[in-house]
Amino acid sequence: MYTDLQLFIDGEWIKGGGRKSEDVINPATEKPLAQLPHAGKADLDHALDAARRGFATWRAMSAYDRCAIMRKAANLMRERHDHISKVLVQEQGKSYAEARAETLVSADIIDWYAEEGRRSYGRIVPGRARGTRQLVVQEPVGIVAAFTPWNFPVLTPARKLGGALGAGCAIIMKASEETPGACIEMVRCFVDAGLPKGVINLVFGVPAEVSEHLLAKDAVRKISFTGSIPVGKHLAVLAAKGMKRTTMELGGHSPVVVFGDADPEKAADTIAAFKYRNAGQVCISPTRFYVQEDVYRKFLDRFTEYAKAIKVGDGLEKGITMGPLANSRRLDAMDSFVADAKQRGGKIVTGGSRRGNQGYFYEPTVITDLPDDARIMTEEPFGPLAPIVTFKTFDEVVERANSLPFGLAAYAFTSSNATAAAIGDAIESGMVGVNSIAISTPETPFGGVKESGHGSEGGIEGLSAYLNTKFISQG
Ligand code: NAD
Repeated sequence: MYTDLQLFIDGEWIKGGGRKSEDVINPATEKPLAQLPHAGKADLDHALDAARRGFATWRAMSAYDRCAIMRKAANLMRERHDHISKVLVQEQGKSYAEARAETLVSADIIDWYAEEGRRSYGRIVPGRARGTRQLVVQEPVGIVAAFTPWNFPVLTPARKLGGALGAGCAIIMKASEETPGACIEMVRCFVDAGLPKGVINLVFGVPAEVSEHLLAKDAVRKISFTGSIPVGKHLAVLAAKGMKRTTMELGGHSPVVVFGDADPEKAADTIAAFKYRNAGQVCISPTRFYVQEDVYRKFLDRFTEYAKAIKVGDGLEKGITMGPLANSRRLDAMDSFVADAKQRGGKIVTGGSRRGNQGYFYEPTVITDLPDDARIMTEEPFGPLAPIVTFKTFDEVVERANSLPFGLAAYAFTSSNATAAAIGDAIESGMVGVNSIAISTPETPFGGVKESGHGSEGGIEGLSAYLNTKFISQG
């Protein structure tokens, strides 16, 4: 029911051969699912050679033909979505419904980039002298090294594969060692769709060793990383040494502002469902709730009601709405945030501890009465914890919302058009949802500011991230 874990290099599936390996664990049972082979330095060099050849082949194809292969891969993902989603649930923990939605939207992302690649237009700029031509053209950046995390094992790789392939690049991707299977299944769809060999190479290993080896190579011209801020900073330094282009999708700490003129119960229903998605292990998860005093009680009661009704369990079981945390590190992190909150006078309204003693399950948690300098108000929780506090005025809440060094996502609820416009402008973040949580779609740019990173995935910006601009002046 799970999958055969292999490396994919130069069009071949590879494992064994004395390579090191590691267990992949099911977070709902803590039992091993399968052994994952690691790529050694020779494998990485093989992948680089393959990517050089793959890039030459892929780039020489028309955007029209590349699009056809990518769309076929997307359709295969749709056909195989049930199997891919079940693999995803077993290795990552989220509910089947969420895994299915992730797989299907990933197919949409591949379609979007396939089509958008056909529209990577240049332009002609009128010259100063008669008979001259000034052409601005877009070219693929070359070989991309991509590193993806464990929280969205299909969606994050799909964004990077889609952007790179849509632009005509080849890619070496190191997906997460903790959740490799669903990404392997997605790559199989590209292989079965007829992708030329070397265009995608999928490797696993010791993350720091793989990234150091690849980033030191001249042939790698672009890095795309999704993960934590400290790792992003480290990779940005390595990339700078070779002046390689980077896209950095890092962590955040998303404020939610509920104004007194909003419907507090409607806001609570919308944002609570979004909070506990993937057990809160989402970079754009709402993580700090500021509610204006007059609607605080109603919002808190409804939010808490939602949290209490969540069905926690193995994501493959029917009716489960929240699975386990993806790894034991997150359990320890939750315990430490909650201990700090209690020490600072925080009140645990519901949840606050691990559930059961097998599987990395944690209770959906609501905490109130916290000071702004409690750890959970300043460090990304990446788990099912919701700290909810009050505010008095617009200026005060904007200052508090913007007070952290992060700027990925933010949300606000209001019934006033003027307040909606004002808060959209005032918040320092890459994405703002006003009376909406729809801030991540294939067609729109997704990315952060400040320490949350730079560059966008999705939208026309996502394709541009894999294109170099060239100016040709013809006399
Ligand atoms: P971590 O910092 O050890 O790893 C984060 C990711 O980076 C993992 O996928 C890991 O394999 C990869 N990684 C680590 N070192 C690397 C290196 N030198 N080169 C290349 N890749 C490397 O942290 P973690 O325990 O996995 O997660 C902890 C925190 O990371 C979370 O609390 C959250 O803040 C952040 N995170 C963010 C996202 C996101 O979507 N932005 C995803 C996962 C984790």
